[in-house]
Amino acid sequence: MSDILIKANGLSVGFQIGNSIFKRQVLKAVDNVTLEIEKGSFFGLVGESGSGKTTLGRALLKAVPITGGGAHYSDGEVAYDLEDISKENLKDYRKRAQLIFQDPYAALSPRMTVRDIIAEPLEVMGLTKTRVETDERVREIAAKCRLNLEHLRRFPHAFSGGQRQRISIARALVSAPKFVVADESVAALDVSIQADVLNLLKAIQADMGLTFMFISHDLSVVAHTCDHVAVMYLGRLVETAPTRQLFASPKHPYTKALFSAIPSLDPDDRGIAQKLEGEIPSPTNQPSGCKFHTRCPNAIDVCKTIEPQLETADRGHQVSCHRWKELLDLVPA
Ligand code: SF4
Repeated sequence: MSDILIKANGLSVGFQIGNSIFKRQVLKAVDNVTLEIEKGSFFGLVGESGSGKTTLGRALLKAVPITGGGAHYSDGEVAYDLEDISKENLKDYRKRAQLIFQDPYAALSPRMTVRDIIAEPLEVMGLTKTRVETDERVREIAAKCRLNLEHLRRFPHAFSGGQRQRISIARALVSAPKFVVADESVAALDVSIQADVLNLLKAIQADMGLTFMFISHDLSVVAHTCDHVAVMYLGRLVETAPTRQLFASPKHPYTKALFSAIPSLDPDDRGIAQKLEGEIPSPTNQPSGCKFHTRCPNAIDVCKTIEPQLETADRGHQVSCHRWKELLDLVPA
């Protein structure tokens, strides 16, 4: 039996923008992404805002249409090609693949009790037959998410950000999914609460045997949570590796720049300092060649015309840069 839960193969997501026939453009939010997510792993997806990571996560949940390539899901019980999944199978897939929202303040209805918020997916998906059965499932998942029974009677406004996020997690997990996309799920929380929620996600993952895709703009959060990390820039994967390997030896200039943004407690630590200048270009007006060449301190002429492809740098480590080998020996200024 395969150890791969999700395999994306040249997956692309494009949106039509502009309302006149002459001005219509395609916004390529995700462009030709190939990746594999192992069962039971914590897969990190990082990049700046606008890199396409949220759209990729949603495409793997089939919450946005896949417009090119495809993605295959296989958990040992069922196998689906997500790009042309039938309506009936999509209903089943919704139980198996869930999203934890970014903002715990906006994600919860203020007019529903915590019990009803957590129970809603069970009722909508028809996963329980009686109220007693529903309550049992709600209590079980609430306990896993460290919520007290008395919390279930209250409304969301009575809770702190960390508690609300635990309610969101309970709601996402109550249908016993196999695959969970956590989209910037700790970004809105204080740092001390972030650690608490991350530890909870790790504990639940081990307990329920879940596979997570953890989306974040913050490499330092990913470092402590994920087994494998993929770095995205302008809809493309630019580097992917086991977490330790990526942190020990990042190879793509963009990954190095993201590392430079992590504050160090050591004043002498110049590390692989590489400042990231400017803004990420608009997806409607993408640069030719390497998408990163307009901001890359190492760009040369070939970077402006020929797009690099992902190539294997080491076991499980891939990078798309024309110069990654020669840059290994380059000491930063
Ligand atoms: Fe920089 Fe060129 Fe590598 Fe792109 S291909 S990351 S522009 S050196």
